[in-house]
Amino acid sequence: MLITPSAFYHIVTNFSIGSVFGAQVKILQIVNIENEVINFFAYMTKREIVNRVKDMPLFSTGADLTISCSHPCLPRWKRDGDRTYPKNCGYCYPCLIRRSSLLDIQDDSRLYSYDSIDLEFIRQYSSGNKINDLKAVIASVYKYIQSDDAELKRLIMCSGNLTSEEIELFLQVYKNTMNDLIQLFSKSQDMKEYIGLN
Ligand SMILES: [Zn+2]
Repeated sequence: MLITPSAFYHIVTNFSIGSVFGAQVKILQIVNIENEVINFFAYMTKREIVNRVKDMPLFSTGADLTISCSHPCLPRWKRDGDRTYPKNCGYCYPCLIRRSSLLDIQDDSRLYSYDSIDLEFIRQYSSGNKINDLKAVIASVYKYIQSDDAELKRLIMCSGNLTSEEIELFLQVYKNTMNDLIQLFSKSQDMKEYIGLN
């Protein structure tokens, strides 16, 4: 549902994983491996997964060290001898999903190369390709706000051979993820209006 080539991989992994997972299980059955395979995160958003593990010591001590970014080594080009990479940029597609998944955790803005996503940031970089992912996500959020469930299900059905039950489950994952992104962007009143909300 996002439109940049760099986002295509994430679309495929996010919305066809149900059918891919089912096909993998069938392959195992063909070779007589009948063990039950449970994908317990398949129908959860990243925020829901984070909230399930956020009180575990490993998450508390290790979350800040993790990288989600699609280009975490960009800071090394900023100046000679820069050793601040790898670092999450804060505005690519995986970083936006990461930030929306951490909304219930303490402010982690210090961990990003660009901590605030607001209209000033968009205006500054809108002429080049730098924020294509961000613009695509904003366009998707804007379209989501205008769409009903029937249209969203039609888009989800385009991603693979899914059952009616899976489509309903992925619809909920998609809507929850979009609502998390809306909450993330709504931290700025300008952004809130920019995505089509008052
Ligand atoms: Zn990033």
